[in-house]
Amino acid sequence: MTACKNEHEVPWGINRRRVVTINDGKPGERSVSMACMHCTDAPCAAVCPVSCFYTTADGVVLHSKDLCIGCGYCFYACPFGAPQYPKIGNFGSRGKMDKCTYCAGGPEADSTPAEYAKYGANRLAEGKLPICAEMCSTKSLLAGDGAIIAEIYKERVMKRGYGSGAWGWTTAYHEGIAV
Ligand code: SF4
Ligand code: SF4
Repeated sequence: MTACKNEHEVPWGINRRRVVTINDGKPGERSVSMACMHCTDAPCAAVCPVSCFYTTADGVVLHSKDLCIGCGYCFYACPFGAPQYPKIGNFGSRGKMDKCTYCAGGPEADSTPAEYAKYGANRLAEGKLPICAEMCSTKSLLAGDGAIIAEIYKERVMKRGYGSGAWGWTTAYHEGIAV
């Protein structure tokens, strides 16, 4: 989250990636890192009245801040709370929607100052991974080809287990906790 804000100079009040904690301080506590899921057949794109959204050849869902009228429909349609709005401006005005770009910029020419000013760095155009995946110290976040990532996660689950069956779980949370 901090790496993302730093890389893209994300506007004040907007978190393109957030850590959501479930059962905070209770048995079964879990923290999940959430951002735009770059949905296939994205609900945000389906409701946008000015057709802001488009999907790149890599499957990344991007939008145009030039077209956006700040209606907020995408915010209500998105199941993950990804679209956000600057916390400045007059009452009732949302400004331009901002969300995770998968570090792939926007409609402007790749890696130009105009693109950076509206969407942040275009790391994919430079052949780099999204900054969150690159900086994640435990490699919980991975990025790249979906089929390869699915194989890596599958191998992890096969070797370590998951949830209450994961290695180290009983030490950290004591035995017998149902999750
Ligand atoms: S903003 Fe929400 S609905 Fe749109 S692609 Fe991202 S996760 Fe899916
Ligand atoms: S806030 Fe912008 S991107 Fe979202 S639905 Fe409205 S016009 Fe489209």
